[in-house]
Amino acid sequence: MLARLHELGEIGADARGGRTRLALTSEDKQGRDLIVAWLREAGAEVHVDQIGNIYGVVQGEAAGPPVMVGSHIDTVTRAGAYDGCYGVVAGIEILLALATCGMRFHRSFAVAVFTNEEGARFGPDLLGSRVLARAISLQDALSARARDGAQVSDELERIGYAGLASPWNFVPHAFLELHIEQGPILERQGGNVGVVEAVQGHAWWRVAIEGTANHAGTTPMDMRSDAGFAAMTLATRLVRHSATERVPAVATVGTFDLEPGAVNVVPGRAVFTLDLRDQRDHVLHAAEELLFESLRALESDGFRVSSECFSRHASVSFDPHLCRLLETEADALDLRVLRMSSGASHDAQMMASLCPTAMVFVPSHRGISHNPAEHTEPEALASGAALLFRAVQRLANSTGGVDGFSGV
Ligand SMILES: [Zn+2]
Repeated sequence: MLARLHELGEIGADARGGRTRLALTSEDKQGRDLIVAWLREAGAEVHVDQIGNIYGVVQGEAAGPPVMVGSHIDTVTRAGAYDGCYGVVAGIEILLALATCGMRFHRSFAVAVFTNEEGARFGPDLLGSRVLARAISLQDALSARARDGAQVSDELERIGYAGLASPWNFVPHAFLELHIEQGPILERQGGNVGVVEAVQGHAWWRVAIEGTANHAGTTPMDMRSDAGFAAMTLATRLVRHSATERVPAVATVGTFDLEPGAVNVVPGRAVFTLDLRDQRDHVLHAAEELLFESLRALESDGFRVSSECFSRHASVSFDPHLCRLLETEADALDLRVLRMSSGASHDAQMMASLCPTAMVFVPSHRGISHNPAEHTEPEALASGAALLFRAVQRLANSTGGVDGFSGV
């Protein structure tokens, strides 16, 4: 598995240790071709659906939807080798283990590779799984355009991954995604694996405050309508509230612009963005309420204010039975397991609307990802894959639903 992860990581590699395989580029095609070859080698039937998702399927003893694992192999620019690829390669390892032992599960088993997870080339992100979850229509997904002008449908044709299968032929019995944490929590708290209970919701706001631009030397402090100072005070209040009260879990002011933007002018206008995230939707709403209340106070002080929410996603909860199963199997492997939420988006959050779904995280050294320095210890990668295998075995050899296991 580690050798495969390394080999896949060489595709799109640059001299400085990074690799770039933006979705549906020629580098992505090379990566896909390698995955398809490995899936076939492992004895799986390979299907490609209309949005270019790849599925490697081995039939079980019984008919019915498969137990599925999967992730993505597209990357951001100058990425590490683990994000997404780890979950796919670990799935292939399960297929190979089955083939080597001549084993067959009761249920069918599938490894999925989803198209354009990162959203680095085409928007929206999570495109392949988003189509499956019907959060975007197939038609809209196929006509999505990249910043370079390319269209998803044309690029799928060009690289030979415009499949004919309906994405909804592959709705699974249960879905598990194994992924690096991309944050520092497991490493800091000494966890071997994380059982992910939820993906944080987010709300992105753009806030504009207007006062009066004026001379910085001649306008007394008590006669100013300083939009910059008002915006800084508001931004500080919101971020500090997150830091001290955890309302919401994390808050970030990522952009901040002042107009006219001169050293000797009291700002007449300030615009900043606010990224609010929490796995509890009511806490996210409480943080937004603080924003609204602060804006009303500025208005009564004579400022003109406006605010616009330009992206919002409710939190996603994963299946509690699957989380418990993963925890039980992690205990059996003597792994120290932490329950956690994900701050990043993953295909699993789309799959959660289709079938019982959960995720497993392994530690990311220093929490670094989307960076060539992304690293997870080989032992940790092996532990996560072993846990995935055990959980898949339990699910795929059970005749019942995921809420109770009646093994065969
Ligand atoms: Zn990822």
